[in-house]
Amino acid sequence: MARQRKRFIAGAQCPACNALDTLMLFVEDDVETVECVQCKHRFSERDEPAQPGGQPDPVAVNKNIIGIFKP
Ligand SMILES: [Zn+2]
Repeated sequence: MARQRKRFIAGAQCPACNALDTLMLFVEDDVETVECVQCKHRFSERDEPAQPGGQPDPVAVNKNIIGIFKP
C-alpha cells in the first residue's frame, strides 16, 4: 500500500476560490492530485491540462514545498 503524502504547494493559487497557499499535492492512483484545503476543490494533471493563457499549473511549482501534512 502506498502511503499518502500530502504536501502544500508554496505560491500556488486555487483556480476555484483564488486562495493562495491552500493547495495540497498528493498522489492518488499514480496521478498527482491537488486539493484546496479551503474550498475542497480537486483537480489533477490528467483532469485539467494547463489552460492556454490561464494560471500557471500548480503542479509545476511543486518544488517549493512549504510543509508536509501528516494526517
Ligand atoms: Zn480553493
